[in-house]
Amino acid sequence: STPAGRPDVLVVGGGIGGLSAALALGRQGLRVRVLERAKEFGEVGAGLQIAPNCTRILAEYGLLEEARALGVVPQNMVMRDALDSRELTRLDLRDLERRYGFPYMVIHRSDLHGIFLRACARAGVELLTDHTVSGYDNTAEGALIRLADGSAQEAPLVIAADGLHSVARRRLVGDAVVSSGYVAYRAAVPIEQVRDNGIAEKDVTVYIGPRCHFVQYALRGGDMFNQVAVFESPKARAGRADWGTPDELDAAFEATCDTVRKGIPLMWRDRWWQMLDRDPVATWVHGRIALLGDAAHPPLQYMAQGAIMAIEDGWVLARHYARQAGAACAESGPDWQAALTAYEAVRTEHCRRVQTTARAWGELWHLDGERRLRRNAIMRARDTYDYSFTDWVYGPTALTPAEEPPMFTPIPL
Ligand code: FAD
Repeated sequence: STPAGRPDVLVVGGGIGGLSAALALGRQGLRVRVLERAKEFGEVGAGLQIAPNCTRILAEYGLLEEARALGVVPQNMVMRDALDSRELTRLDLRDLERRYGFPYMVIHRSDLHGIFLRACARAGVELLTDHTVSGYDNTAEGALIRLADGSAQEAPLVIAADGLHSVARRRLVGDAVVSSGYVAYRAAVPIEQVRDNGIAEKDVTVYIGPRCHFVQYALRGGDMFNQVAVFESPKARAGRADWGTPDELDAAFEATCDTVRKGIPLMWRDRWWQMLDRDPVATWVHGRIALLGDAAHPPLQYMAQGAIMAIEDGWVLARHYARQAGAACAESGPDWQAALTAYEAVRTEHCRRVQTTARAWGELWHLDGERRLRRNAIMRARDTYDYSFTDWVYGPTALTPAEEPPMFTPIPL
């Protein structure tokens, strides 16, 4: 499409974070342009769990029914020990839906991405591919991005949603990614291929074990089955650069129960994901350049909140923009700085909590020996209907620090 005048907002990165933020701001009547580096918009990977703090926002955008039609609403989330397969604890997802008012769903990443892409097009968002952004600067009237082809574009606001290895993050924060030494393998296969593996088709099942875990759930109306295998790489521990390779996968799950071991040969072996995150930072807004999504708060994925936090970011920013726009006088226009300050005040703390809790869950899930047994005993004693560890995440997304519920701290073992 051809640029139709100067946009109000430039969004760098057309992943789930960038597109959902573009939609949220486009719905406020802003002219939004998304610049994506890839030749085509798309997502790699397989399934994505989307909890009520995400489906609540999808409902507000009028996208929940489309998501429901493309995804699956499972019955339970069941956690099992990966060695003896005994159940440790569960969430009854139908009851959880009643508690939070919105469903806990699973959906193929490309389906959720496609939902946002189509919604952006309908909202008049300008969607440009093959645009690589290489530099950022603040200007008198906003911010400017430099493109790899030597050109530049300017707008009152620039959102950097360029992911874990964000160019903007490097320029504005300058920190390094943190390696957990864990790696993820993924696979989505026709459900027929796994029916005899002892799977629970209607549930999300998480098997947790020493230095490994394994996640299973059905996708695409139940026709596909998604699996994620995560383990600590011995090569990473040994300080080698080429860590997480497929030869390590089989060995990591050798001692696990039948259902897990039967799943391992189906994992995709041509691609794997080293589990990296970053330490939380308290400043995401630099003048008129705002970090969003993984560029701002890449988590380890153990709380399944990475994409959700990105979607919440855009929703919160758009709400604060709307407040400012409502209060603005005709001459000066809305106060972007106030909206950005409010966005940063609430989101940095929430995402810091999720990032640090995700790291703590990782430790808890991967325990061995005596500590594994103590953990199992504590998990088994949990009441299925005790929501103290989900309330602070799955409840309504806070717009101010005062609205942020108290955080649940996992039991140290
Ligand atoms: P990205 O998806 O990385 O998008 C960034 C985009 O920016 C890309 O399209 C990229 O091409 C583009 N880009 C990069 N650099 C430039 C540039 N210089 N110029 C222009 N464009 C650029 N989250 C959940 O909520 N639920 C889950 O169940 C879940 N499971 C996960 C399982 C695994 C194994 C992993 C690894 C992650 C999981 N996550 C989950 C996390 C989630 O995938 C991410 O947090 C989310 O996709 C981040 O979205 P984003 O748009 O911020 O970044």
